[in-house]
Amino acid sequence: MVRPTTLLPEVKAHYGDLKNYIGGAWRDSTATAWLEDPNPATGTTIARVPLSPKEDVEAAVDAAKGAWEEWRETPPVSRARHFFALRDLMEQHFEDLGRVIAQDMGKGIDESRGEVRRAIENVEVAAGIPSLMMGYTLEDGAAAGIDEEVLYQPLGVFAGISPFNFPIMVQCWFWPYAVATGNCWIAKPSEQDPVVQALLFDLIERAGFPPGVVNLVHGARETSEAILDHPDIKGVSFVGSTPVAKAVYTRAAAHGKRVQCGGGAKNLLVVLPDAKLDQAVPNMISSCYGTAGQRCLAGSAVVALGGSHEVLRRKFTAAASGLKLGYGLDETVQMGPVISGASKQRIVALVDRGASEGATVALDGRGATVPGYPGFFVGPTVLDDVAPDMTVAREEIFGPVVTLFEADGLDDAIDLVNRSPYGNAASIYTSSGKAAREFRYRVRAGNVGINIGVAAPMAYFPFSGTKDSFFGDLHPQGRDAIRFFTESKVVITRWL
Ligand code: NAD
Repeated sequence: MVRPTTLLPEVKAHYGDLKNYIGGAWRDSTATAWLEDPNPATGTTIARVPLSPKEDVEAAVDAAKGAWEEWRETPPVSRARHFFALRDLMEQHFEDLGRVIAQDMGKGIDESRGEVRRAIENVEVAAGIPSLMMGYTLEDGAAAGIDEEVLYQPLGVFAGISPFNFPIMVQCWFWPYAVATGNCWIAKPSEQDPVVQALLFDLIERAGFPPGVVNLVHGARETSEAILDHPDIKGVSFVGSTPVAKAVYTRAAAHGKRVQCGGGAKNLLVVLPDAKLDQAVPNMISSCYGTAGQRCLAGSAVVALGGSHEVLRRKFTAAASGLKLGYGLDETVQMGPVISGASKQRIVALVDRGASEGATVALDGRGATVPGYPGFFVGPTVLDDVAPDMTVAREEIFGPVVTLFEADGLDDAIDLVNRSPYGNAASIYTSSGKAAREFRYRVRAGNVGINIGVAAPMAYFPFSGTKDSFFGDLHPQGRDAIRFFTESKVVITRWL
């Protein structure tokens, strides 16, 4: 059953033509082009997104620069109070934030709530800024009577460009740390589902952040490029697909900016014969089909070792075929639609390609429909008899499609992980501590799961990633984020 919408009036006010939030005020974009933003389950347009031109980015940078001197001189403990206030407001509007995500992005309501929880956790960690930002001193560090210390200082204006699949969480991997450390911020969310940002910015305003400290500019590629090229933006945090991550990294770095760029993924779940399948299979199903496979940590390939392939294929396919597809606001639904018609077409075309290259379609979601919901549904899909050189084995599918492989032993499985150009996550299911230790030690992936299919780091750990899944040095979240958004200043003191 779909419950009636209980959205706040201020959320509804933001449906329709979205506005930018610049210098503490909601402003009409000067855009001449707009995109329709449909609910992916119903296909109905719920908002229009302005493709903000560089003039809007310049206005946001001016507002951020104007706010910066005072904000950087605001003591960390005072800055933290805004984050405590925001945290309380997000808790009060927890359900609204989740419902907007389910309507605009399409994921199930429970997963949407989970995403909001992750966003709040980042706000909570950033509220600890007085401790997180402490430098260090070594008395007589340079010589007798000469002390040496390190101070962490903010740099100015930062910006964040985020993907569609976590419309609130990914921005919260970035901005709470940037702003808590004393920088000002410009958010450029995905143009495909930005409505939840409108609600978040209402809460940011109510939390009392001074005008200009946190700004929101809607748009797509052109808006991002205006951010990357702007000389007064000191650094950029980005998450999205690998080709765009590479382009953003190169372009921002060419302008001398700090950059951290998360890219795409192709995550392998390796299953040893001693794995406890009764627990492992549901865990793998949730990894592979949660958010309709549109998670950068989603399992996209299952590798069975030591002759366990047949039993695993049977159990995995049976469990996947039982998932209930439907509208995310329905509490009983286990998998929602994919983000857009274009995305559905791309996913279906990749499955077609897999079949034409010799894979067996063991479970086919290409023709899935949901009565009453004409949106962009693809059912759970399993491709068996997959070889490592097939397109479906190499490319990120970013949909509810899983490829099944067979490998001889742990060395082969580790080799498969390490040969992938991506390095976001890899998981092993086993009862053997020795095998798990070997896997953890040797795999080239940033986030490793042991009997865990979604190795998602908590907010106080870095959200890692390597190879073509991450470009840069310091990752989002936790202490890495504090370092990314600050400059280390070394002071050497001798009193005469
Ligand atoms: P995308 O790369 O299409 O878009 C990401 C953002 O970049 C959007 O805000 C978009 O407007 C902007 N953009 C698009 N083209 C641009 C360009 N040429 N220059 C500058 N900006 C541009 O990604 P998406 O489809 O929204 O998101 C899905 C992708 O994100 C998947 O590949 C997924 O694996 C990845 N992802 C990675 C992580 C991670 O932590 N590594 C997390 C979540 C999602």
